[in-house]
Amino acid sequence: MGSWDSYCAICGGPFDRLTVAQKPRSERFLRRHGLSQSQSSSSAQANHSTEDGNEDTTAETSDDEAAGEAPLGTMTQEDAREDGSYDCDVVTSREVAWVRDLHILMTNENLDTGERVACVSGVGEFHDNTQASVDDGDDPNWDPEAEIVLYDGSFPFHWPCYEILGTVLEGKAGIAGLNKLNLYNTMLHASGVCCSRLESLDYGDPGPHNEQWWAYEPGTEFLVVHPTISLEKTTALIRERWMRSTQVVSPSDRVRRISADSFQKLPLELLLKTCNMLGPQSLYQLALASPTVDALLGDKPFWGQYLSIHMPWSYELLSLLDDESQTSFQNADFKSLVRWVDQESTPRHWMRGPFMSIANRRRIWHVCEQLKPVYSGRDARFPLTVFQKRRVNLRRARMGMPLLP
Ligand SMILES: [Zn+2]
Repeated sequence: MGSWDSYCAICGGPFDRLTVAQKPRSERFLRRHGLSQSQSSSSAQANHSTEDGNEDTTAETSDDEAAGEAPLGTMTQEDAREDGSYDCDVVTSREVAWVRDLHILMTNENLDTGERVACVSGVGEFHDNTQASVDDGDDPNWDPEAEIVLYDGSFPFHWPCYEILGTVLEGKAGIAGLNKLNLYNTMLHASGVCCSRLESLDYGDPGPHNEQWWAYEPGTEFLVVHPTISLEKTTALIRERWMRSTQVVSPSDRVRRISADSFQKLPLELLLKTCNMLGPQSLYQLALASPTVDALLGDKPFWGQYLSIHMPWSYELLSLLDDESQTSFQNADFKSLVRWVDQESTPRHWMRGPFMSIANRRRIWHVCEQLKPVYSGRDARFPLTVFQKRRVNLRRARMGMPLLP
């Protein structure tokens, strides 16, 4: 059957030693992927192009041909090497080394009670196919003699992904509050036959591909960036931006806008509900149009609630909220900051810089949220994926039964 990779059950990422290119991307690489030099080297440029929804399409085929190079449509060995590695200007080998450490979730029999219990291994490494070796770790229920077969009675994961999962499923209690047997059964429900990650989950778009071996999709380095390691750096960056921000509305403009503000008449409860239903970009726009809403957004408790609904993965913003007093809060423009963090941390191709870590955390958070309904017992099973639905409908069509919508 050959060999294949197994992936992290939580982030869908690899456990391999990843290849980071020795030299920066060539001009030809940039042209093949429709990028300009400035887009490739500037985070601001890359973000700008995403916000506008415009892709820079400056690919020019004639330069290659004129220079005697292979046409852009032809894949050369160098092209394959560049596509099969990460950009050394975006990540370093050291920064992506964390993915190699795996842990295992599996079940065992409690020696005293004979009951089925779930346990987590110490750190280990992936070998090939379904094979991994691990240290025993400190879980008293771990069986040192356990036979590990990935996705056949055991689930591999990265520890930082497990910590995010713990927060999503158990809030502040985190991994200490996890019911491991519940989690194991949940993952069992989400997995399929002969799978290399949890088949019922959507790992994001852009997200990791479920290929036989890890696929280096150009421009997706953020998928292998540690999701929490640079918290201090990103928090400092966001705080600095916040400290520099000021309210932009002049007093005369405020008076003019208040007289035309129809939100003034809405009961506070309804206003809060409306604001909590909007994403950061729409909320920002609404605050610009309505001084009543703008005033509401100067309230610290509002943001505590809002962030827990819309951006619970933004540990940085939540820690800023915890630190700041209401007085210092009113002097700076938090709505702009929230909007900025939302934009910068949106997972997308060709990201670079410290926000890659938040983007990967945000992606992983959404994967974890999909496990919650079954873990908590609210749902008995996962919704069918498009592929599973197609398979079921094929069967139903053969039997003359009505198709699933
Ligand atoms: Zn992971």
